[in-house]
Amino acid sequence: MKITVAPSAGFCFGVKRAINLAIDSASKFDTELNTLGPIIHNPQVVSQLKEKKIFPVDTIDEIKSDKVIIRSHGIKADIENKILQKNIAIIDATCPFVKRSQEYIRKAFLEGYFIIMVGDDKHPEVQSVISFADSSRYKVVNKLEELNKIKFDEKIALISQTTQDTNFYLSIICEVFKKTSKEIIVFNTICDATKLKQEEAAFLSSKSDIMIVVGGYNSANTNKLKNICRKIQNNTYHIETEEELKQEWFIGAENIGITAGASTPDWIIEKVVGKIQSFDIL
Ligand code: SF4
Repeated sequence: MKITVAPSAGFCFGVKRAINLAIDSASKFDTELNTLGPIIHNPQVVSQLKEKKIFPVDTIDEIKSDKVIIRSHGIKADIENKILQKNIAIIDATCPFVKRSQEYIRKAFLEGYFIIMVGDDKHPEVQSVISFADSSRYKVVNKLEELNKIKFDEKIALISQTTQDTNFYLSIICEVFKKTSKEIIVFNTICDATKLKQEEAAFLSSKSDIMIVVGGYNSANTNKLKNICRKIQNNTYHIETEEELKQEWFIGAENIGITAGASTPDWIIEKVVGKIQSFDIL
């Protein structure tokens, strides 16, 4: 029996940066700090940060000090303005890749493009990025069929959520090219960490008898990894912690693959490996 953990499994650059910035700020100011929304999509990490006096809140009115930490997914432009109007200082942990997407949208909007964003309109990153354009000038799509609701009578800018499945984004781009002969610009906004994780997850799935995907159920990139693995290996399970593992999943499996979302810390991955190793069947 062999357990292989994808080399890029776990925290990405943007998540490490956000957590370090939050911890350093709480220590520097020696006070309780709030993040507007969970700093990353991993409930176990958010829970641990409470021990370091970092607490998530849902609204500006709940912010307890004169500073607030902006999470890795960023926030909407109007919320940022409201925070500044209340003289609350911003500690900006928005991932630089998300910042780059915000800037692309702002420019595309000012230059008169109709924007198609490929992603989940309920996800905070998409909500923050798309808020840099007027709501009449964009459409967020998560399925090919949703393109049928767009007129395609003007120039188009295409952008994707940073954690989008690369093949899905490419399929949308191809479909848009078929639908219009107007000018199209395409922003390559799927981040490097996501691309690498997806490639490794697909490769590992093709070599494994079972795939375990570790990460928050509310984590977009973890859910994308699960879908990529499941397309190749039907025996794919998404878990948040080692407690959800079931011994019977592993009966007859010789090669076990593990990958983890960008907001999953190493200590959770290590516990998952340890629990699998402890099963009698190995
Ligand atoms: S997955 Fe990519 S965009 Fe998201 S926080 Fe990590 S590095 Fe940034």
